[in-house]
Amino acid sequence: MDKTYLDFAGEIISFIDKSPTAFQAVNNIACELEKNGFNSLSEADEWNIKSGGKYYVTRNMSSIIAFQIPENTKTNGYMMVSSHSDSPCFKIKPNPEMVVDNEYLKLNVEKYGGMICSTWFDRPLSVAGRAVVKTDNGIKSVLVDIKKNIAVIPNLAIHMNRDMNSGYSFNAQKDMLPLICGGGDKKVFDRLLGDAAGHGEILGADLFLYNRQKGEIVGANDEYFSSARIDDLECAYISLKAFLNSKLSSCIKVYCVFDNEEVGSGTKQGAKSTFLYDTLCRVSDSTNMSHTEFLRSLASSFMLSADNGHALHPNYEEKSCPTNRPKVNGGVLIKYNAQQKYTTDAVSEAVFKRICQEADVPYQEYVNRSDILGGSTLGNLSGENVSVNTVDIGLAQLAMHSCYETGGVLDASYMLKAMKKFYETELYSNGSGIFDINFI
Ligand code: ZN
Repeated sequence: MDKTYLDFAGEIISFIDKSPTAFQAVNNIACELEKNGFNSLSEADEWNIKSGGKYYVTRNMSSIIAFQIPENTKTNGYMMVSSHSDSPCFKIKPNPEMVVDNEYLKLNVEKYGGMICSTWFDRPLSVAGRAVVKTDNGIKSVLVDIKKNIAVIPNLAIHMNRDMNSGYSFNAQKDMLPLICGGGDKKVFDRLLGDAAGHGEILGADLFLYNRQKGEIVGANDEYFSSARIDDLECAYISLKAFLNSKLSSCIKVYCVFDNEEVGSGTKQGAKSTFLYDTLCRVSDSTNMSHTEFLRSLASSFMLSADNGHALHPNYEEKSCPTNRPKVNGGVLIKYNAQQKYTTDAVSEAVFKRICQEADVPYQEYVNRSDILGGSTLGNLSGENVSVNTVDIGLAQLAMHSCYETGGVLDASYMLKAMKKFYETELYSNGSGIFDINFI
């Protein structure tokens, strides 16, 4: 495998390793934006946006939108890429300590999203998220990451459950509770948390279990990589790199990462919220666009909704659609669904294919088997507030929602090239379904 491809996969792996939850992912993205000269904005403050400027804004510390404005913005569209910052995992409940037989201390947890439970057993685990601590003036939120293997969810021995290999159904309240120490000391978890949060009085917390196993390159030819949270931090990182490394066209470049996709996106910071709409409105206000000019610019806007999809599984060929069978490393996925769970239609498909052709990037089509319901994603939800032409794309991966998933090394670089070309494309709507496409 070419070193350039392996290096890029390595970058993705290290980004994922240092982003155990949406809070750390967004903080790492913000740091990268700052390093590249982006200015932080707060939703509560007035925005003094200048032509040619670079800005970002976060909501709830777990969603982020960055944008770069060209010198003249009148009615030029927004070129947007969105992905999500969260992954399925287990959330720590309030009062989580449970002592067993005066010895073991385990934590009470509940499911966040739809994970493959069996993958969480027998792994080194830790806890991260954010805590809210008391201050002299009120409260403040701090990132928390207990960077240590503090927990494990031990499997039950095969001798104690002979049915374990015959389709066992896992009970989240009984089977999935992590053991964190011996000695029966109920205060241990609070102490770990206090140390990680910096010793303020903790009044609230959003804390999650995460897999501490590092990502690795895998395969006889180094063609795969396995890691936690590939869905969707892979797309979040690749789109960030494309956003930062693409030339500025006459369109406004927008980069979005939303939290809570795995639980339906219906939060104040999710794709279904007004976060994107509010941000675009404020951009248009500050650049003196009239409302009509704003609406005209939306007509020429385009969004890539980037969330990974399923590759053909070598042991379950029958689970894939008979005529659309994407492979890992076969190129960027374009995702289709007749019920419009994916936003792709003939026009958005054609625009994206044209961009892939120009970037010399292979693409492949993804559709669920007609008798299998697929998952939901971002595009159709963010479209409820900001209705623009959108294509659902992603990369073909294996073991989606395992706590250790597998993706393709080559695919990551394909996606980077396609997204970079997307940001360097100017679109002008010339009526319904008609676009002038200009590559800068
Ligand atoms: Zn996803």
